Amino acid sequence: MKITAVRTHVMEAPIERRFAFSQAWVDKRVGLVVEIETDSGLIGWGDGYGPPWALSTVIERYYAPRLVGRSPMAGEAIWEELYNGLRDHGQRGIAVQALSAVDIALWDLRGKHLGVPVHVLMGGPIRSEVAAYATGLYRRSDDRAENHRLLREEAEGYLAAGFRAMKTKVGFDFEDDLALVAMLRETIGPEIGLFVDANHGCDVVQAKRLAHAIEPYGIGWFEEPVEPEDLEGYREVRAATSIPIAGGECSFTRHDFRRILEARAIDIIQPDTASCGGLTEAKRIADMAWTHGVRYNPHVWGTGIGLAAAMQLLAVLPTGAPSFGAHQPLLEYDSTQHPFRQDLLVEPIRVQGGVAHVPTGPGLGIEVRREVLERWRIGP
Ligand code: CA
Repeated sequence: MKITAVRTHVMEAPIERRFAFSQAWVDKRVGLVVEIETDSGLIGWGDGYGPPWALSTVIERYYAPRLVGRSPMAGEAIWEELYNGLRDHGQRGIAVQALSAVDIALWDLRGKHLGVPVHVLMGGPIRSEVAAYATGLYRRSDDRAENHRLLREEAEGYLAAGFRAMKTKVGFDFEDDLALVAMLRETIGPEIGLFVDANHGCDVVQAKRLAHAIEPYGIGWFEEPVEPEDLEGYREVRAATSIPIAGGECSFTRHDFRRILEARAIDIIQPDTASCGGLTEAKRIADMAWTHGVRYNPHVWGTGIGLAAAMQLLAVLPTGAPSFGAHQPLLEYDSTQHPFRQDLLVEPIRVQGGVAHVPTGPGLGIEVRREVLERWRIGP
């Protein structure tokens, strides 16, 4: 089996109801899908989390020429070669996000070639179903009363759908954040997990103040309180609160996570499989996290292809301290409006009763609907 072509698809779709996190309003969804074709007739699919045009350029101009003619079975060798090829100008960010998309597609191809799911190639499954939390509860209106009305309704929707945990956005304004957390806790009751995410919209002083104020509301974790570069800031916030600190969606490869883990900066790391270096690197990071006794819940914000890759990884994430009540990793289930995330797959990964099942088909275990790919594809 040899690679004959590497194609990228930049996708974009407007959404009807815009929503905001701490820094910006979102009024469209974008995606970068990579398709790797082989002489065996098999096609591998990958998803890259990052600015799609930049990822597309890196893949088509720099990675594709190194891939054509190679066997997709040589996953580690290809990873090294692509990483080394852009190391002097890459190491993280766009170069690694583009590599992630390619790496996921190569795992898909290897699984399809051998007729087994990726998690079997990775030595699993350790688990075949994963509890999911709903990512949503973004700001929908600048009017607090109206926003609370909308988000109360949204939270009730997640409860009705069977979710046992959900995540909201903070980092806007102290009073707004506090009122929102109080309203949500009151809405969902004491038993349901509630996480908050500032998208690094706080400085250390703001993050400590907010953490202190929301502690009484039983917060499962405080995600990206401060800027990802500021590991000392993370440590300071972590030391100031009993709320577990999460983060890592803006960090890349073993090298970033080694620093995070050695600094004891984060309780729950959240590498994005479609951004941190692909499934190959995510598994290495997972083994490092296990060694350091740190939890790992993958960040997920891509198309259904990225979600499938996250599920394959979740199937093989090591269980921390084994016991009857051992902590198990959680799936981040993006529940915000997205015109093609689920539509892109013939059989999308769904959450039922708060649980998602790991796909068992060959490779990533998914089939892509080409008509949906074409519908939302933009550019040449
Ligand atoms: Ca986040």
